[in-house]
Amino acid sequence: MEKLDGYSGDIKRLLEENNVRAGDVIRVVTLDREYVGTLIPRYEYASQDFLTLKLLNGYNIGIKFDRILSIALVEKHSPPSFKPTPPKFRSENLPHAVIVSTGGTIASRVDYRTGGVRPALTASDLLSVVPELAEIAKVDAEVLFSIYSENMTQSHWTTLSKKLHDYISRGYEGVVVTHGTDTMGYTAAALSFALKNTPIPIILVGSQRSSDRPSSDASSNLISAMHTSIKAPFSGVYVLMHGWVSDERMAIHLGTKVRKLHTSRRDAFKSVNTKPAAFYENGEIHVLLDNLPKRRPPSSFEIFPNFDERVALIKFYPNMSPEIFTYLHERGYRGFIIEGFGLGHVNSTLTPVLKKLVKDGVFIFMTSQCIFGRVRLTVYDTGRDLLEAGVIPLEDMLPETAFVKLSWCLGNFEEAKVLDIMKANIANEYSPRTVLDEGEWFGS
Ligand code: ASP
Repeated sequence: MEKLDGYSGDIKRLLEENNVRAGDVIRVVTLDREYVGTLIPRYEYASQDFLTLKLLNGYNIGIKFDRILSIALVEKHSPPSFKPTPPKFRSENLPHAVIVSTGGTIASRVDYRTGGVRPALTASDLLSVVPELAEIAKVDAEVLFSIYSENMTQSHWTTLSKKLHDYISRGYEGVVVTHGTDTMGYTAAALSFALKNTPIPIILVGSQRSSDRPSSDASSNLISAMHTSIKAPFSGVYVLMHGWVSDERMAIHLGTKVRKLHTSRRDAFKSVNTKPAAFYENGEIHVLLDNLPKRRPPSSFEIFPNFDERVALIKFYPNMSPEIFTYLHERGYRGFIIEGFGLGHVNSTLTPVLKKLVKDGVFIFMTSQCIFGRVRLTVYDTGRDLLEAGVIPLEDMLPETAFVKLSWCLGNFEEAKVLDIMKANIANEYSPRTVLDEGEWFGS
């Protein structure tokens, strides 16, 4: 947090003159009364004329600048300290597991002095606020990154893949990755491709509310994720989050077929074009898909951890300029995933441009912004023109999974192999057929 987040102009000057920063307790004398409270940061776009105080009774008030006579510092802010109690393991015979923390809300806590959420919990803090974990496994913890997931990049995926490969190769029997929810689907897809023949299930887990809020889903998600990683009969990479708004049922989604489909609900994640792989309920795992890889010996476990950044995911919109594609190509981009309309269509003016790019060696694939269903370029003549131009349809693959897969293909394999690998079903990114039961639609 900056010293005076969200303050500018006269108010900022007045605060600076009095050596006040956000989080400090101050006394503000106005034309008609006096207030004591904590100065809290303001939104960047909030009106510049106000100062916001959290009063001692917990309420926040805004005080208009032209009513302020004076400001005085009462107490400097000292950040809250948190001392984790070391976890006690129940028995030496428990399996060995690890939580690798990357950041996000699940590793955050509310700073009650300022009202904001900050990424402040370490992985071992998480262990001590969720003591049940010590009954499931001997849990080690590592903070690999401490970032919100919107800041994840391909190089984070590489570092994380290597780290998980290392833990599993050293014999860990449970692996849970805590992650921000915004891009957890992308990272899950990246790990699904980078880690081949995983011996055990790797479970990514996040939370929609930080772990110190009464409504938090952090501990229920974390406990269920740890049980699943240790007990599930399948291997591979999965996302575990609430399957419904209440705590009882957790959905375990394939890492390549999952999307965050709600901004705030605890059951925000849904499997797309497939059922969830399994549910976790009352300590039991109920497997729903029959094509999941089984647990397997570590001898065939391999890693392909590289990702090429010169790939773009482009959502087509009415009248989008074809220049966007040529611009990116001129800057070295090697491949595009297009999110077209409906069955996989774009404005016909783009087709000749795409044809030229394919000729120049650029990889171009089509997905649909419908999300549900498959692309099919043979139904309309515009689709056939795209096929003829060299655009490759990607069936029912999620656009973001396609983006990750292309970046991974170009990062690890020679160009001659890319088309075959993109068309092959490597980590259940293609469903054999799309069964759409209306109940699986989000919100229905
Ligand atoms: N922006 C946060 C993140 O993805 C939200 C969350 O953690 O749920 O890291």
